[in-house]
Amino acid sequence: MHSWAEPYKIKMVELLKMTTKAYRKKAMAMAGYNTFLLRSEDVYIDLLTDSGTSAMSDRQWAGMMLGDEAYAGSRNFYHLEEVVRTVYGYKYVVPTHQGRGAENIISKIMIKKGDIIPGNMYFTTTRLHQELAGGRFEDVVIDEAHDAESHFPFKGNIDLIKLHKLVVKYGAEKIPYVSMATSVNMAGGQPISMQNLKELRAYTKKHGIKVIHDMTRVAENAFFIQQREKGYEKKSIAHIVKEICSYTDGATMSAKKDALVNIGGFLALNDQELYDEASNLVVVYEGLHTYGGLAGRDMEAMAIGIKESVDDDHIRARVGQVIYLGNKMVDYGVPIVMPIGGHGIFVDAKKFLPHIPQDQFPAQRLAAEIYLDSGVRTMERGIVSAGRKPNGEHYYPKLELVRFTIPRRVYTQAHMDVIAESAARVFEDRKKIKGLKMVLEPKYLRFFQARFDLV
Ligand SMILES: *Cc1c(COP(=O)(O)O)cnc(C)c1O
Repeated sequence: MHSWAEPYKIKMVELLKMTTKAYRKKAMAMAGYNTFLLRSEDVYIDLLTDSGTSAMSDRQWAGMMLGDEAYAGSRNFYHLEEVVRTVYGYKYVVPTHQGRGAENIISKIMIKKGDIIPGNMYFTTTRLHQELAGGRFEDVVIDEAHDAESHFPFKGNIDLIKLHKLVVKYGAEKIPYVSMATSVNMAGGQPISMQNLKELRAYTKKHGIKVIHDMTRVAENAFFIQQREKGYEKKSIAHIVKEICSYTDGATMSAKKDALVNIGGFLALNDQELYDEASNLVVVYEGLHTYGGLAGRDMEAMAIGIKESVDDDHIRARVGQVIYLGNKMVDYGVPIVMPIGGHGIFVDAKKFLPHIPQDQFPAQRLAAEIYLDSGVRTMERGIVSAGRKPNGEHYYPKLELVRFTIPRRVYTQAHMDVIAESAARVFEDRKKIKGLKMVLEPKYLRFFQARFDLV
């Protein structure tokens, strides 16, 4: 027996406001039934995202004091560069203010108008930058990823036959790279296997196509490889992470997730010509290539966080807590995406609220109900997040989910119990819950700012 108990203790606490149901009802209506528009003060347990919400370690905070706030050539940049090289193995690094800054730059450099970018399921900002650069995203994730009920252990895998069909149809020269994510966010934090990655590398090499890695949650993916894939049981997380990166040509990183910082990201590349272009373009959008929109102290905290993120005990506790919550929900009969993913629990809103049609936003409504019940803030990952097609129709994603994302090193086991109990209570009363109508729809990434009303 080996518990997932945390390899740290609490040194400082942040006090929370406790609210009543009447208070939350008012707050939710004012927020237009969009949990993104709630004030964080009015939230008890905040599971909106695991992005930028981690608790930094005492070492990271100490690192903040070592910030070298020089405009150019900060020593914290060189520390970050050294850590990216040793932990991930990429040769060059361009810091950016967060992940989408890196996505913007790689998309602008590599994508030409009319290009096709295959990927293992879309991510909101990633796809948008590909489209803004003139490309078109094509989903090549295996079918199991779109099936909330499939227990396949590597639902983040790429279907190489789907990829091959795109190569045959459009030609390899129309495909600048495959956009490969570890721990596929929109599928519920589902991992890609090392075997699949090796096959992807062999295939893309043959056709002269690059692989750009969305490495936002690479350590969590590595944990599942260690737990589930033959030959990796005894390999360290650090070893597995580096091997994953070795099958790719470059990466975009939102360090706000795995890397345990509140802000930061980077673009990593192995090709010098691409790096030269990126380090020039970053000046336009983020800042000089040795700070990329970040303070020196932020780069220092990121460098230290990256090292902590590949520690075996850390990642076992991190994913262990998520699995603990998921198992509790399963025990209560709440329908969730299986297997349980790395960064949160994804509740299946289609099964939870089968009486609400998808264009009345069942997941959006369910997230609002959970908040009303307990002050727990979750978010929609369904039709609202999927947005509209270039022709103006909604995308109707197969998965209509509510995401309970767990920040790293922030909440306790008792908090997990409160969350599961709330989901169970709302599930008991599910028949009374009705849909929503959208009353305000922003043009870009609508899920962040859309407003709704009860039908
Ligand atoms: C968060 C995220 C991004 C974008 O990163 P930001 O830091 O939010 O800009 C890209 N890809 C994945 C998989 C993410 O989870």
